[in-house]
Amino acid sequence: MRVAILSIGDELLSGEVTDTNASHIAGRLYDCGARVFRHLTVPDEEEAIAQALTELAAASDAVIVTGGLGPTPDDYTAQAAARAAGVELELSQEALDHLAEFEKRIARPLHPANRRQALIPKGCRLIPNPLGTACGFVVPLGGAQLFFLPGVPYEMERMLAETVLPELAGRLPAPWRRITLKVFGIPEAAISERLEGAIEADAPLQLAYCVKYPEIHVILRAATADAAHLERAATEVRKRLAEFLFAEDDDTMDLVLARQFRESGLTLALAESCTGGMIAARITAVAGSSAYFLGGNVTYSNAAKSRMIGVPPELIERHGAVSAEVARAMAEGARAAEGSDLAVSVTGIAGPDGGTPEKPVGTVYIALADAGSCRVERCNFQGDRDRVRSITCFTALNMLREHLLIRHGAAVRN
Ligand code: ATP
Repeated sequence: MRVAILSIGDELLSGEVTDTNASHIAGRLYDCGARVFRHLTVPDEEEAIAQALTELAAASDAVIVTGGLGPTPDDYTAQAAARAAGVELELSQEALDHLAEFEKRIARPLHPANRRQALIPKGCRLIPNPLGTACGFVVPLGGAQLFFLPGVPYEMERMLAETVLPELAGRLPAPWRRITLKVFGIPEAAISERLEGAIEADAPLQLAYCVKYPEIHVILRAATADAAHLERAATEVRKRLAEFLFAEDDDTMDLVLARQFRESGLTLALAESCTGGMIAARITAVAGSSAYFLGGNVTYSNAAKSRMIGVPPELIERHGAVSAEVARAMAEGARAAEGSDLAVSVTGIAGPDGGTPEKPVGTVYIALADAGSCRVERCNFQGDRDRVRSITCFTALNMLREHLLIRHGAAVRN
């Protein structure tokens, strides 16, 4: 089955908005065994949309279109669909009923302009939208079915899942199975070297790498009929990347850590400088984190390091705020202040200013203290301020994960 995607919107072509709809649709179709063969983006212009519809319909079995179904005069998709299909627009009673129903649900009057959203190509079938005012619709054109969905991502995703994919299901190939192995701390080139020969050349599998900085995902895919091959390959890849593998499939570093803390019964405190609370934000993003996260301090200035967690000013004076000694004192101070089992601290130079030849931008010290010891790592990260801060945060979480795994045997997987 040949499926194409058409994205509509000036903001997609000006770079203001990233086309997440297209990647979501392509990903969902891929999981169902269908590969999108073409993806086109056109501006909010009736002529351009109608032309793209005609062209894609001639080459496809199905086209999934998003955007331009709003109530404002710059939303042209319904007009363009009618023009391409050679029919008139008509006021749909079903779409008007949907607007009335939606109005009742949100308990406030809709703007009269919303009535425009009930104007749809004559004779087409509606796609219900449980979350917004714009109904979608299906227009047959040549041998193709054109599915029109709103641009708002969460509305589009729901309608795709509830109506479009089930309608296409009978015509799609058998779904593929996918195993995603998430690794951290090893570059892509080194992964591919380690995986050389891991999968037989003629195995009915696909192997792909996807960089989601700072993580790398190793993705294995196979047809359902080849599930045994897939499992065998995944076992081999797990073995070869074991020390870097932190999660699989929908699991994340944050969820893995949360499970490890719950299993170990240990508690945590934080002292953050260059990450400004990012580590605490990730820890507390997981529901139930109050069971193990006692508290954290953003000790950004030297004075705050001394006042809040008792780092001796002379230590900062002697070694500098970005040093192994201060990182250690921060972790130990945070641990004492909160009375936790573990504490993590970070202090570094995120840039763009503040680097020196001995401690260039990207120099970060991360310390992890427990009752009997304190491990301090010096890291030399590359990249701009955002990248240095995000990889610092991830590295600190990974140090915790490794510590809990090695010292306390807390499991990585479910
Ligand atoms: P609305 O009823 O809100 O007007 P619509 O169908 O007209 O819906 P648009 O006006 O094109 O959709 O876009 C609505 C919102 O969705 C905007 O914030 C837009 O930036 C966003 N959006 C549109 N298309 C995409 C896309 N392909 N990927 C991500 N976001 C998108």
